[in-house]
Amino acid sequence: MDLDRLIQERIRDIADHPKEGVVFKDITPLLADHVAFAGVVDRIVNHHGRGTIDKIVGIEARGFILAAPVAYHFGAGFVPVRKKGKLPARTLAESYDLEYGSETIEVHADAFSPGERVLIVDDVLATGGTARAAADLVTRGGADVVGVTVLMELSFLGGRDRVGNLDVHALVTV
Ligand code: AMP
Repeated sequence: MDLDRLIQERIRDIADHPKEGVVFKDITPLLADHVAFAGVVDRIVNHHGRGTIDKIVGIEARGFILAAPVAYHFGAGFVPVRKKGKLPARTLAESYDLEYGSETIEVHADAFSPGERVLIVDDVLATGGTARAAADLVTRGGADVVGVTVLMELSFLGGRDRVGNLDVHALVTV
C-alpha cells in the first residue's frame, strides 16, 4: 500500500467526540503502526530539509507526539506549547476564541533565541486559532516562524486563512 493511502487509512473518524456534532480525527491507529508513524515523520522532515530549522514547537498534547521525533530527525530542539498553567517557569500567553468560549496557550518566555527558525507541528488544523496563537507566541519570543506542519487539515473550516501568510503544510487534506 502506498504511504498516502496508509496514512489516510490509519486516521479514524470518531463521531460526536468530545461533544455532539464534532467528528474527532483519532490518530492513535497511525501512531501504533510503525510504518505509518515513521513515514509521517520522514515526510515532515523531507518537506523542509534537515538543518533548515532550529526549533520545533509541538502543541499539547498530540502535537508533542509528532513534534518530538521530527525534532530529533531535523537535528533541532523541541519546545512545548501548553495549555495555560502547565509550564513551570515564566511564560508568554496568547488567548483565542473557540466556537464556544476561549482557550489560552503558553510558551516559556526564554524558549527561543533571537532569529531562530521555528517550525510549528500539530496533529490537526481545524479553525486555525491554535496555530495562529502558537505562531504569535514564537514571534513574541523573538524567533521566526518558518511554517506550520499538520498531519491533517480540515479545509472546510478555513484554518489556513486564519493562520494568515505563513507556509502551511498538511500531509492529508479533507
Ligand atoms: P483549531 O485551533 O480549531 O485549529 O484546532 C486545532 C487543535 O484542536 C489541534 O491541537 C487539534 O489537536 C484539535 N482539534 C480540533 N479539531 C479536531 C478534530 N476534529 N479532531 C482532532 N483534533 C482536533
